[in-house]
Amino acid sequence: MNRVKGKVAIVTGGALGIGQATCKVLAAEGAKVAVTDILDKEGQALVDEIRRIGGTAQYWHLDVSNEQKVRKVFAEVAEKFEKIDVLVNNAGIAGANKATHDLSEQEWDQVMNVNVKGVFFCTKTAIPYMQKNTTGSIINISSIYGLISAPDIPPYHASKGAVRLMTKTDALLYAKEKIRVNSVHPGYIWTPLVENLGQSAPDGVEGFRAHLDSLHPLGKVGEPDDIAYGILYLASDESKFVTGSELVIDGGYTAQ
Ligand code: NAP
Repeated sequence: MNRVKGKVAIVTGGALGIGQATCKVLAAEGAKVAVTDILDKEGQALVDEIRRIGGTAQYWHLDVSNEQKVRKVFAEVAEKFEKIDVLVNNAGIAGANKATHDLSEQEWDQVMNVNVKGVFFCTKTAIPYMQKNTTGSIINISSIYGLISAPDIPPYHASKGAVRLMTKTDALLYAKEKIRVNSVHPGYIWTPLVENLGQSAPDGVEGFRAHLDSLHPLGKVGEPDDIAYGILYLASDESKFVTGSELVIDGGYTAQ
């Protein structure tokens, strides 16, 4: 019940999917949660749900690719909840599914702006708040595709590889100040992002899901909670000796 009691956590892209599950788990375990996203209706509905079951949460509209807005929202969170202990850099997009030679610069930049610059802006902005308290945990959601690749969505793979190493650099930069930085590498998790990829699959969404199931040695795609519990561990003091690490939660995908 109290694994992150009293901690203040910001979750980006918190309205849906992995972010939504993370907000619920952190709130259930005692954190004050700043739910941030670009989907206001879904974000506010989540906050209402968390409050109904006795948790503490507030919603902020935040596009992570806008540095000015990141600064403004983080300042408001720190004022409302008095500090920032945990940052979950979760917001991410898949981007255009084209081969490298067919991609435009704009399509490349669109993914980098959210998946890489967004992590940079949010980390950069959260660090001074964490330095004030000489404590903090930053959790960057990379992917199995930050570890291995696949013959599709080139900017996505590049972005998740970048997040993996940004994590290690920041882990080393801020270790003396007891600010921990770790990455999480999910396998396929059934969320709106993945379901949307299935809409254009030749076998339809159900066929796509069955195909994804077959790619994981445990026989199925994961659920958002599977990732949220890993994030909870990294947010809590149970992981106080863990920094610069890669938490792979992938049903055995990368063990093959
Ligand atoms: P999701 O279902 O699409 O949820 C992500 C949320 O982030 C959505 O509400 C999305 O809004 C929002 N978002 C998009 N762009 C944003 C921006 N610029 N600023 C703030 N929020 C923004 O995605 P998910 O599957 O839960 O993925 C969450 C993270 O896990 C991502 O970083 C993803 O790359 C990573 N991941 C997912 C999987 C998987 O299989 N699901 C596997 C490995 C890694 P919109 O719906 O409007 O875009």
